[in-house]
Amino acid sequence: SPVMTSEKEAALAATPSDDCPTIFDKIISKEIPSTVVYEDDKVLAFRDITPQGPVHILLIPKVRDGLTGLSKAEERHIDILGRLLYTAKLVAKQEGLAEGFRIVINDGPQGCQSVYHIHVHLIGGRQMNWPPG
Ligand code: 5GP
Repeated sequence: SPVMTSEKEAALAATPSDDCPTIFDKIISKEIPSTVVYEDDKVLAFRDITPQGPVHILLIPKVRDGLTGLSKAEERHIDILGRLLYTAKLVAKQEGLAEGFRIVINDGPQGCQSVYHIHVHLIGGRQMNWPPG
C-alpha cells in the first residue's frame, strides 16, 4: 500500500464505498487491538492512534448500517447519532475534561475523512483554536 505522508493524503485516497470494510471493523472485532475506553452493545469508544491532543477518542457505531459518513445519514440513523454524541459526553466526563472539549465529524474529501465508517472525534486536554484547519 502507498506510504501516506499526512492525514490529508490519507483522506484524499480513501474510498467511500458502502460495502467496503474499513479498519474499524477489525477494531470492533478486536482483531486489531485498540485502547477501549467505553463499550456497550451499540457504541465503541477507543483512543485514536494519532492523538491530536492529550485526550483523543473515536466513538463509532458497532454496526455501520450504511452510515459511512454523516452525509449518508437517514432517518433510521437518528437513534445511533444521538447515542454517539451522548456517549461522547459521558466519555468526556470519564476522561476528566471538565474545562471543555472538541467534537469533530469529518465528512468526505474536503472534510478530510479517511475512514468510511462514521466516527465522532472527542479531543481535549488542551486549549483548542478556532477556526479549525
Ligand atoms: P478521519 O480522518 O476519517 O476523520 O478519522 C480517522 C481517524 O482514525 C484518524 O484520526 C486516525 O488517526 C484514526 N485511525 C486510523 N487507523 C487507526 C487504527 O488502526 N487504530 C486507531 N486507534 N485509530 C486509527
